[in-house]
Amino acid sequence: MLRSSTTAWTSRCGSRMQYRVLGKTDLEVSIVGFGASPLGDVYGVTGPEDGERAVHLAIDEGINFFDVSPYYGLSLAESRLGVALQGRRSKVILATKCGRYGADEFDFSAGRILASVDESLRRLRTDYVDVLFAHDVEFGDLNQIVEESIPAMRRLQEQGKTRYIGITGFPLRHLIRIATSVPVDAILSYCHYNLLADDLDTVLAPIAENLGIGLINASPLHMGMLTERGSPDWHPASKETDEAARNAAEFCRNRSSDISDLALRFCFDYPRVATTLVGMATKDQVHKSLCACQAPADPQILLEVRAIFAPAFNRFWPSGREENQ
Ligand code: NAD
Repeated sequence: MLRSSTTAWTSRCGSRMQYRVLGKTDLEVSIVGFGASPLGDVYGVTGPEDGERAVHLAIDEGINFFDVSPYYGLSLAESRLGVALQGRRSKVILATKCGRYGADEFDFSAGRILASVDESLRRLRTDYVDVLFAHDVEFGDLNQIVEESIPAMRRLQEQGKTRYIGITGFPLRHLIRIATSVPVDAILSYCHYNLLADDLDTVLAPIAENLGIGLINASPLHMGMLTERGSPDWHPASKETDEAARNAAEFCRNRSSDISDLALRFCFDYPRVATTLVGMATKDQVHKSLCACQAPADPQILLEVRAIFAPAFNRFWPSGREENQ
């Protein structure tokens, strides 16, 4: 049973979880979403029991939206999430993906998508997902995605294996091109709305709203960059952006503030997306993210951090096939 937007639940730090409807779907998702890529050890090795406890705490504390992919940890994240959700599947809105299976392994053909979803369902120990996304569409042939992948995903919807379908990716223009060519229910965008970027708001949100497409904002911490720990080795942003993030973290620390809390609150306050996906794998991270929902951002610190980020703002990196650059 999903909570409605009128009910609220109060956490240990007093936060009241809010829920928003995802586009034209009947999915009411918590504004804090659980990004499960860290369960696949994408950000370093995590204990499976830690991940399971994090998932259980998140559910107990009102988080109902979970996002995963066969790509995360090459199926490890799906398997771990499946174990953690045993006996709790009905309490969550579950999204997984198709089309991406490795750093350089993509297959958006109908045949692979149909087989891939069955594999995902087995790992997730369920017989349906709530949203199925085509994963990182800029690495595919965009015509194939429109003409073959999305129709295959609609067939899966007809078969009851997914309730809704969507697309994910990095460059906004490809997401827009697909969504204006063929109906999709949801778009998941990452690193385009947080303390380092805002073109999701200016470029994507108006079009999505016009088309009635639900928007999901992922990577509020800019894939780990806006944390005390700093960016993972594989982070694609420039050294200048990374340096700005380290300066901002230090600035916050010197004012007894925390860059992650500030970054999370900034995203949770953004009303044009249904949910913000935070990558989490421990109870501490879940707790910290929930508390960031509660603590208002200090406007002066926010102003100064945004000034530190000004030279690095809306600076993106190439992603996708050469012909899609
Ligand atoms: P993120 O910005 O959420 O950062 C995750 C990192 O921050 C991890 O190292 C995590 O340990 C750490 N962290 C989490 N909560 C914290 C807190 N409160 N304080 C300090 N550190 C904290 O990046 P992400 O995980 O890449 O994005 C979130 C989720 O969005 C992913 O797990 C995935 O589900 C989804 N996503 C999808 C795509 C796509 O479809 N192409 C791309 C990126 C993200």
